[in-house]
Amino acid sequence: MKSPLFDGCNVGEENMEKKDIKSLTLAELQEELSGLGEKPFRAKQCYEWMHKKLVRGFDEMTNLSKDFREKCGNTYQYTALRIVDRQQSKLDGTNKFLFELADGNMVESVWMRYKHGNSVCISSQVGCRMGCGFCASTLDGLERNLTASEMLDQIYAITLETGERVSNVVVMGTGEPLDNYDHLLRFIRLLSDENGLHISQRNITVSTCGIVPKMYELAEEGLQITLALSLHAATDEKRRQLMPIANRYSIEELMAACSNYFHKTGRRITFEYSLVGGINDSDEDAEALSRLAGTLCCHTNLIPVNPIKERKFVQSEALRIVSFKNKLEKNKINVTIRREMGRDIDGACGQLRRRHMNAHKETDGVKDVFHN
Ligand code: SAH
Repeated sequence: MKSPLFDGCNVGEENMEKKDIKSLTLAELQEELSGLGEKPFRAKQCYEWMHKKLVRGFDEMTNLSKDFREKCGNTYQYTALRIVDRQQSKLDGTNKFLFELADGNMVESVWMRYKHGNSVCISSQVGCRMGCGFCASTLDGLERNLTASEMLDQIYAITLETGERVSNVVVMGTGEPLDNYDHLLRFIRLLSDENGLHISQRNITVSTCGIVPKMYELAEEGLQITLALSLHAATDEKRRQLMPIANRYSIEELMAACSNYFHKTGRRITFEYSLVGGINDSDEDAEALSRLAGTLCCHTNLIPVNPIKERKFVQSEALRIVSFKNKLEKNKINVTIRREMGRDIDGACGQLRRRHMNAHKETDGVKDVFHN
């Protein structure tokens, strides 16, 4: 059987067979390196270079012998994403990063500064196959899954670039994380490992469009992460207009899966609800959402939809957003309006990557400025 570490690996032609060392757990690394005749403490040193000191290659692991570093270089692939673009919002200090993977694919991440610490929103796939109507990430479908190391390195590269610690991670960028389940789980375990960045699982949020069987599986993993459900509509009929996945799983099934997640983990669920003008923002919609949210221990996040040019969806009027929120509050629903971050910098999911891909198409063979 194919190892999950090779599935969707960002390997170039020449190192197709190399194992992705940054996706290995410490225990796996110890086993690996003992196979190369190394003592267990070498694995710990090597692991800390990768996941604590965040070095960009074996060459920087200066307390390891040159021979050993060479052996590693010949045996393993070392994931280190390259920053090809960084946009800084003038409105709120949000930064968007565009990364190039070893195979030339691109992914984007967002870095946000809050009073309580820095937060990074990462991508979990190159593209997405979920087809949500208002989302830019899915317009060209799914290219491939990201490996655990490619998810981690978005955070590592941003930490190095900004020189500031990341305290919160949300998996809400491009891709459906539960459609890349094994790599996602590996990523969460590495990210929260005490020998690495040791980010508290309570500060990690995974957002899903609602792949019900995977939500049940996740509840059994013994994790303390927050699960966010992209609900976006309170009836199956409306949800189907926005999200193809709603044809597969009903809201009733989703609520059962959320309730199970809460009971198994004790973690409150977050509902994401993007307000789309004239589609899901009426008073009746707010009442229907209140009825759903009222049955669960949850928090509801209202997100004014960020319109993309490829689709006709528009943002709700500001007053409508406020009265929608007021209705929920009146019904005792725990609700916030998510502050729009970085509206001036290709804010919506997948827009920065698309702009670069389109620029590529237009230059047709001419290398753009970021590929020198
Ligand atoms: N696939 C996962 C995570 C990625 S999308 C999910 O569906 O949850 C992260 C969140 O942003 C989701 O709630 C998604 O529905 C929302 N989103 C995507 N594009 C958006 C847009 N243009 N405006 C507002 N929210 C959007």
